[in-house]
Amino acid sequence: MTDQWIEETLYDNWGQRFRVTKELARTKSPFQDIVVFESDSHGRVLMLDGVVQITERDEFVYQEMLTHVPLFTHGAPRNVLIIGAGDGGVLRRVLEHPGVEKAVMVEIDGAVIELSKQHLPAIAVDAWTNPRAEVIVGDGIDYVAKAADASFDVIIVDSTDPIGVGEVLFTDSFYQHCARILTSEGLIVNQCGVPFMQADELRETSERRAKFFPHVSAYVAAVPTYVGGFMTLGIAAKGKSPVGQDVQAVRARAQQAGILENTQYWTPEIHVGSFNLPPYIAKHLPTAD
Ligand code: SAM
Repeated sequence: MTDQWIEETLYDNWGQRFRVTKELARTKSPFQDIVVFESDSHGRVLMLDGVVQITERDEFVYQEMLTHVPLFTHGAPRNVLIIGAGDGGVLRRVLEHPGVEKAVMVEIDGAVIELSKQHLPAIAVDAWTNPRAEVIVGDGIDYVAKAADASFDVIIVDSTDPIGVGEVLFTDSFYQHCARILTSEGLIVNQCGVPFMQADELRETSERRAKFFPHVSAYVAAVPTYVGGFMTLGIAAKGKSPVGQDVQAVRARAQQAGILENTQYWTPEIHVGSFNLPPYIAKHLPTAD
């Protein structure tokens, strides 16, 4: 941090910086450096190991797309597993779906959860105390290795990038267990970075998931603070391909769930259209799905 500015250190040759109006927390957990600060441009911001994870101002883009796309693609998910996502934003969006009976969230770092409860209450809102939520502090790979076969309809992986503690969530072993614990129509979504800068992340995770899932594709979302253009969200399905869905069918599901009027980024049209990938991104997927 220099004066009142804080710089993101994701890339060693390019970055963004925020003017800090107040530093709210700065600590080192057993897993990572955690900083929470207030900015006048983006509201409150969570940084882990110098990388922006979430800001109050644009969290809706990432959270809505990471949640509503897989849940409405599945159509009738009852059991949802969330890995990572310690800020609670994905848990909140999953619980907005009335058909979800149980949302299990497994986050490795209890300090991220506690600091988010304290300093980012607008992200999770009341999700932490929802009786349909089970929050576990533990490693996602250990959880999936022990979970029963066919026990989840959707898995959402909201992890840090594949360095350090998040690396195991991008391995063959992790995806193999995820395929095993998903139901026959189950699907998994995970963030695959910004391909303009992190193409390897999309290519490698797509190749790995293709070993265990018949349908592997990706969709895009423009998250302002994940700099570099579109972010890709990788999706892999055991049942039907998620590509080429019908807008009216997606709209009907959202209407029934009472979510249609409540989003700021996700719409049925964006849901279906986000699977249309620019060629510079599509070329990193193993085969056309
Ligand atoms: N939305 C963010 C992004 O894409 O930059 C990610 C948010 S989130 C806060 C990522 C979380 O994943 C972190 O809190 C981190 O502790 C957690 N995480 C990393 N590795 C994990 C693992 N092996 N098991 C469970 N959670 C993990």
